[in-house]
Amino acid sequence: MKFADRLNRLGGETAFAVGAEAGALAREGKKIYPFHLGDLNITTPQNIIDAAYKAMNDGKTGYCPTGGILELREALAQDVGKARGIDYTPDSVSVQPGGKPIIGKFMQVVMNEGDEVLYPNPGYPIYESQITYFGGVPKPYRLMETDAGFVIDMDDLISNITPKTCAIVYNNFHNPLGAKSTDEEMKQLADLCIKNDLYVLSDEAYFDILYEGTGKSIASLPGMEERTLILYTFSKKYAMTGWRLGAGIGPADLIKHISTLNVNAESCTTHFIQWAGVEALTGPQEPSKAIIEELRGRLDTAYDALTAIPGVKVHKPDCTFYLFPNVTGAMKMMNISDVEEFRKIMLKETGVSFTTRKHFGTPYPGETEQYIRLAYSGINSDQIEEGLGKMKDILEDFVR
Ligand code: PLP
Repeated sequence: MKFADRLNRLGGETAFAVGAEAGALAREGKKIYPFHLGDLNITTPQNIIDAAYKAMNDGKTGYCPTGGILELREALAQDVGKARGIDYTPDSVSVQPGGKPIIGKFMQVVMNEGDEVLYPNPGYPIYESQITYFGGVPKPYRLMETDAGFVIDMDDLISNITPKTCAIVYNNFHNPLGAKSTDEEMKQLADLCIKNDLYVLSDEAYFDILYEGTGKSIASLPGMEERTLILYTFSKKYAMTGWRLGAGIGPADLIKHISTLNVNAESCTTHFIQWAGVEALTGPQEPSKAIIEELRGRLDTAYDALTAIPGVKVHKPDCTFYLFPNVTGAMKMMNISDVEEFRKIMLKETGVSFTTRKHFGTPYPGETEQYIRLAYSGINSDQIEEGLGKMKDILEDFVR
């Protein structure tokens, strides 16, 4: 059978393949320490589950408005606007089955075929996939390691802007790096967007997964609200990854087009789940705070365990639930040059399952440092300690 040519341009999320590999080993009886996927092993708060049941029992089981029920759009405009210091209205909101659908819809709305779109590398792999799938030209910009953590390489970003550049994807509170922009970095980026008249997809999936301070959105900087679409999701903050509930929030004329894409695809986001979203935003926030506290404990455990492993260096981000350790030293000790080989050996020998730099974009020519990504959202502290302890044992053998 012959399928459409454009499918050759569609990428994927190879982290799911690592999950399948680990799953196969688990079925053979191997104990697995799951650090590969950004999912949570924490249950959705009970008040949100109850609200979904109530909505179903109240008959909220039919179609509903394409862009989302008014009550949820109001709650999102209020909550997201307040946290960012922006006056959003329900017309600024298009409810989606998850945050992810916003990526492809943004490309369809702002990008013509042949237009260039900047996106972070390393970064979430779906950006590149959706840019190329919809006929754009993906232009990666580099994030680089410094003593203070990962930062945007502004010179690299600027060198990639051309008259064909129409948009940039910006993922503050960054997956996989856990990077957070300084005010100066965010301002520099905003100035570039205004100067070059770029749209911005501000992927704020981790805006609320913060262990220090408060979140800041590029949309709140002068001249940015009118050119920025925020990707919002309930997935992480409320441990609702499987519910599939998110939104695009931004200028009303852009939002209208996003919702028209929904008419053509989903019709609407599941009705009763939207009512659960209303409860999530307007009900008690203590359960969400408890999720952050649980994650904070895991971060401390994982960071301490990683820093004890010979040949591993790691920054301690104060956001997201990812760590991105530099394992160049460990690989040298084991005489391994390919980080994927390192991953496979660790999975087989210790059951510790993680992704690598290669799952988050194409490494740059001459990139010498090697990294892995650990997500600590799906594994409890005692298991984090046990699993990373096994990695430590292996590497200590090479020191002796
Ligand atoms: N953006 C980033 C950076 C992510 O890491 C994820 C999920 O892991 C998403 C967007 C999409 O999340 P969801 O579709 O569950 O809202």
